[in-house]
Amino acid sequence: MTERLYYRDAMLREFDAVVVSCTPASIGTGFEVVLDRTAFYPTSGGQPFDTGSLGAARVIDVIDREDGEIAHVVEQVGERAMETGARVQAAIDWPRRFDHMQQHTGQHVLSAAFDRLFNVRTVSFHLGAETATIDLAREVTPREAADAEAAANAVVWENREIFVRFVSEAEAQALPLRKDPARKGELRVVEVAGFDLSACGGTHVPATGMIGVIAVAATERFKGATRLTFVCGGRALRSHGRLRDAVTRATRVLSVLPEEIGDGIERLQAALKDADRAAKKTQEELAGFRAAGFRAAAATIGPWRGVLSAQPGSDAGALKTLAAAIVSEPGYLVVLTGEGTPVPVVAARSADVTFDAGAWMKQATAALGGRGGGRPELAQGGLDATSEQVLDFARRTLTDR
Ligand SMILES: [Zn+2]
Repeated sequence: MTERLYYRDAMLREFDAVVVSCTPASIGTGFEVVLDRTAFYPTSGGQPFDTGSLGAARVIDVIDREDGEIAHVVEQVGERAMETGARVQAAIDWPRRFDHMQQHTGQHVLSAAFDRLFNVRTVSFHLGAETATIDLAREVTPREAADAEAAANAVVWENREIFVRFVSEAEAQALPLRKDPARKGELRVVEVAGFDLSACGGTHVPATGMIGVIAVAATERFKGATRLTFVCGGRALRSHGRLRDAVTRATRVLSVLPEEIGDGIERLQAALKDADRAAKKTQEELAGFRAAGFRAAAATIGPWRGVLSAQPGSDAGALKTLAAAIVSEPGYLVVLTGEGTPVPVVAARSADVTFDAGAWMKQATAALGGRGGGRPELAQGGLDATSEQVLDFARRTLTDR
């Protein structure tokens, strides 16, 4: 069994050890190295593994094996495996480990705060690359989250000591542990002085002050539980920096104070809505004037007047607005084509005209290809043809009537 140096001294960054075995890694290239002792933390209990170096080899994964050994996965170094019995100098990537310790210890304090203030249990913990989350056993209010955050930070600022000790199963049963331990036998107990007592195999800072700060980033309530995202120490500082940059940019663009950003955006949204309404009114008026011109130039088709016209640059929406304006007076039928692939086509008729625009559009799609349909008074489609082909087809089918 590998001696776990991090159990006794979580602040240990460099150590030497003897190679017990070195075998090809089970997945991909590289080797799994087992040492007689290690300060490398293997993935477990929601905390990710440490990285670092064994001699010249880079450690890219650390696995807690079922046989009690810790396997260091290293990338291949040179041609040969490390020799059994060799002594190696090892170093862990300290910024990464210290970050994990800040988040993990912060989690103990934050979970204990929810437990002590509101009797809410922490069901699970996940430490991600950017943020960490805890799942709480019930839905918590924003007020409760803020109160727990305040209580947790008070404990951070009191710089309480954190003790680690090993106890027997019987001794553990007599201890007021925050959560029933998952494992049997000897237990490692982590105590935040006078605040929290938990069974845990992870790495923790020696005093709460080193957590720096505990900041709740988000709460998401679901199915009677809450997922709470938080950042501690260095992550909280970086998160604050990102928020500051985003707020600075928003205040500059909106010319408001930070606390007025919401109001500033609402004002912009209202102004945009007004502008949209005005633009729509103008477009309708414009369509009305253009429609009068089209009606004046309309050709005779049987007993009616027909407008068959290509409108380059128009989409289906603009065609519909124009067609509706033309047929707002009695006696007209209209086929308009716009720009695009397939080409947008709109057919329409005045209320007194017996032309069926929907049926004509079906006829056009059958003859020219594409999709389309609609009601007798207004139909639209996208046809696999040029504007000229569509208007030729309209001329032939409508004048044959
Ligand atoms: Zn822990």
